Amino acid sequence: MIEGLYIHVPFCDGKCHYCAFYSVPYSREKGAAWLASLKPEAEAARSEFGPFAFSTIFLGGGTPTILPMDQLAELLDLIRCTGGAGDSVIEWTSEANPGSVDCDKLKLMKSAGVNRISLGVQSFDDRVLRQLGRRHTVQDIHAAVRAIQSAGFMNWGLDLIACVPGVSAEAWRDTLCAAVALEPAHVSVYALTREEGTRLDRDHQAGTITLLDDDEQLRMLELAEEVLGAAGLSRYEISNYARPGLECRHNLSCWRGENYLGLGGAASSRVGNRRWTNAADWGSALTGVSREEESLTPRNDLVERLVFGLRMTEGIDLEVILTACGLARSPLEAGLRKTLIRLEGEGLMVSLEGRWRLTPRGRDLADHVAVELMP
Ligand code: SF4
Repeated sequence: MIEGLYIHVPFCDGKCHYCAFYSVPYSREKGAAWLASLKPEAEAARSEFGPFAFSTIFLGGGTPTILPMDQLAELLDLIRCTGGAGDSVIEWTSEANPGSVDCDKLKLMKSAGVNRISLGVQSFDDRVLRQLGRRHTVQDIHAAVRAIQSAGFMNWGLDLIACVPGVSAEAWRDTLCAAVALEPAHVSVYALTREEGTRLDRDHQAGTITLLDDDEQLRMLELAEEVLGAAGLSRYEISNYARPGLECRHNLSCWRGENYLGLGGAASSRVGNRRWTNAADWGSALTGVSREEESLTPRNDLVERLVFGLRMTEGIDLEVILTACGLARSPLEAGLRKTLIRLEGEGLMVSLEGRWRLTPRGRDLADHVAVELMP
């Protein structure tokens, strides 16, 4: 059974300075060509994997809301006609960007079954938005939130970027406070990172920008936890906060190692021990023929479940994930248990009610813990 559907809408109206996601500039012709290519891809997936009964759908990208009304309607229809949007769907998220979303598009999405919006705002400071290469303003954010609310969405969230060079702790607190003042159900906070091929990477290499060091980053992320926590948003994953019951089910499902199908260029899929990623280029996106496929070995499956599982506050049930990977009572198990107990002794892990979780200090050193746990 495939729990989740992810569709990568590959269009943006420019390139943010930090972004390495696959996207191309939107044009009406490109939108039409992409939609025409998505249909056979979805139908091929349906013939391969049987009738769809997804629990979650996620429209990401790129910028789904850059599509004009008629093409957005075509995309939503396509999902419905291929059986993607049946009664089994509990959560259907669309990403949206301020500046490209409006009340009509939101109402259209809502009537098709979308019940969750994730708005990429990144900052509530126009200077920082320009520095990041965003193409919207704080005023656009407020207009987008008003549109989301007036279209009747109760479950919506904001994405923020932490650790932007030149942004003081006070200025970061202002952004966090501006975010919580809007009373979102969900907030994602990702530290700015340098991805190869981005303008940020080039600026860094040219020495015109210096990213925050590890300690400064931790301080900014702790500040996020403090402000968001005080506003009733619990940290349920290292980078994600939500009001109780409004965690992103689609992402939780992927992090728990459940199956998901990705459609569109650059989208990844996982079905059983098969994992594949569609090629991230326009030609392949249109033909859907090029993808890199690998067979997850039990060991790699275990590594993935450990790394993603420990990022979540719920942690992992070692017995359950070893069984899911076919490694219960294998020689790996004893070694892994020994490492977990050692990490517990070092104050990085804690075992509670049969689940292993990172301590706050372990969360700060999550990458180190992940390396230690590599079987
Ligand atoms: S809008 Fe999103 S996907 Fe598009 S360039 Fe910016 S960060 Fe990347």
